[in-house]
Amino acid sequence: MLEVDDVTGRIESIGFCCRECGACCRRVAEDSNLVLVSPAEIRAIMAATGMAWEEIAEPYPDFITAGTGGEYTLAWCIRRTDEACIFLHGGRCSIYVHRPWICRTYPFMLVDDDLAVSECPGLGAPLSPCDAHDAAADLCRRQAAEAEEEAGIRAVFREAVVPPGKRAVIDSEGMKVLDG
Ligand code: SF4
Ligand code: SF4
Repeated sequence: MLEVDDVTGRIESIGFCCRECGACCRRVAEDSNLVLVSPAEIRAIMAATGMAWEEIAEPYPDFITAGTGGEYTLAWCIRRTDEACIFLHGGRCSIYVHRPWICRTYPFMLVDDDLAVSECPGLGAPLSPCDAHDAAADLCRRQAAEAEEEAGIRAVFREAVVPPGKRAVIDSEGMKVLDG
């Protein structure tokens, strides 16, 4: 796993300053704005907004057929309209303080021991060593949070039996069987 200092120099040399264009929140291509969100992040947004779970999140769209004939998926995503994330209001994130790690760290992502960079018009802008360090620290915290969620999913998955004919989301909290 990469350490903060390893990532800091890479980010500083790439450069980044968010232009607040909202492009990463809008649908510019199929699933371009698919934002995975963990149960803990959903609960933080619920507490901040008073919204219900199902108003905030929808199942990750790729379902897998279980041995029982039911189907499951292993993640939740922030709900979207045909145009954008439901939390994009007037070009701004209405849950900015509570936005998920993916949004917080865009356009960067740690993939195993490498830094992946997504398309973004803010790339290439000068970035101070201090800001690069903060971005790197966030990326490492995100990676740790994702590893913890994945471990939780694996533990639940080992015991989960998807009911025949039903669809379910298996996350670190348990198996949630969907209505309909
Ligand atoms: S992260 Fe990039 S794509 Fe997203 S709002 Fe900022 S500049 Fe635009
Ligand atoms: S949660 Fe906020 S930052 Fe993330 S995609 Fe939605 S509007 Fe954009």
